[in-house]
Amino acid sequence: MQKLTVLGATGSIGISTLAVVEANPEQFSIYALTGHSQVKKLVEQAVKFRPEVIVVGSADLAKEARTLVEQHQLNVEIEFGEQALERVASAEGVDTVVAAIVGAAGMRSCLAAARASKRILLANKEALVMSGQLFIDEVKKYNACLLPVDSEHNAIFQSLPLDYQQGYLDKSIEDYGVTSIILTGSGGPFRETALEDLPFKTPKQACAHPNWSMGQKISVDSASMMNKGLEFIEACYLFGVSPDFIEVLIHPQSVIHSMVRYQDGSVLAQMGQPDMKTPIAHTMAWPKRITSTVEPFDFVKCSGFTFQAPCQERYPNLYLAKEAFRQGQEVTTVLNAANEEHVDRFLKGQIAFTDIAKYNARILEKLSPQKACNLTDILEIDKQARSLAHELLN
Ligand code: NDP
Ligand code: MG
Repeated sequence: MQKLTVLGATGSIGISTLAVVEANPEQFSIYALTGHSQVKKLVEQAVKFRPEVIVVGSADLAKEARTLVEQHQLNVEIEFGEQALERVASAEGVDTVVAAIVGAAGMRSCLAAARASKRILLANKEALVMSGQLFIDEVKKYNACLLPVDSEHNAIFQSLPLDYQQGYLDKSIEDYGVTSIILTGSGGPFRETALEDLPFKTPKQACAHPNWSMGQKISVDSASMMNKGLEFIEACYLFGVSPDFIEVLIHPQSVIHSMVRYQDGSVLAQMGQPDMKTPIAHTMAWPKRITSTVEPFDFVKCSGFTFQAPCQERYPNLYLAKEAFRQGQEVTTVLNAANEEHVDRFLKGQIAFTDIAKYNARILEKLSPQKACNLTDILEIDKQARSLAHELLN
């Protein structure tokens, strides 16, 4: 039986993870569930999954949780704050940590899990984009096991030989005859919107993804294709490849979740319903398989597969991300921080949809970060980028 800590349990990935746990009760038990602001939902999850610990965002929220826990006569420890997240991510007895906090807020707990040699199921792509090689190096140093939950990276991982998958961070995919990785993306809800209408798109429209049901931040990133940009960087780190090794392809149906080309002309793809329970279940059971409760994909009912190349005018954020990776780790930290700030402002109705990329570019232009040699440097660069974003917006 694997014991899990689910970081970000109250979010979209967290909820899907718990659905997979519920479908496989004999294989998983829960040590800790963490949320941030949704205390009621977290306590409801605790009633059902009986963790030993729950973590919320602040002392006040912990008080609120205490009242609810007492009403349910539940025996669970209640903690709050960043250190508590690190503690439950590294606690003795925990086998697997599901990293599903959104944004840079999840980075420290991801690192704590790596340093405690856990099996890390990584959904929190911003943590990897922000800390890059430093995070990968910690995973290797402490012999942790990092498995990609993000559907594209999970698809790439599944399309590579098992021999490569075992200890993949130390191997070269070129040694396995791979010639390129094809990262697919739906193109988001504005794929066919007239360019001149993009500035008027609302948060609600941006969050209405045609295929996937996700949290707000990643939904906006999908609409601007910053999500694909972050995934491009994520793929470079996870599979140890240079930007030239990755092709980005729009595939509006979101059935092929990514592909791998081999030197003999073969292209291997992983396909299925656009439902995160599949990659989550895959990482939970790897190298075995378990049920995920996802319906089998019906090829006869599907409308066909189409593909197109992304266009820079529509998706400037994708190109900013590629360029940031070429410039180095520090620049991807800056871009991630700037993007988080600008998406937040867009969701609050303070800037236009097209301002996100425009302002991200402005921060990249104005800030020349120092070299990041350790976590402290990274946190400092992240802070500088956010302060500059605030300053320029105010
Ligand atoms: P959600 O917004 O749905 O959930 C985010 C979770 O993080 C919630 O549990 C939230 O708590 C918690 N959280 C928010 N802010 C903080 C904070 N400052 N400190 C601690 N916890 C916090 O996001 P998703 O589930 O959609 O995404 C989670 C991660 O997975 C993201 O990095 C995303 O890019 C990645 N991902 C998501 C996919 C998806 O389909 N959703 C697909 C692939 C990757 P609360 O709600 O209680 O405030
Ligand atoms: Mg993805």
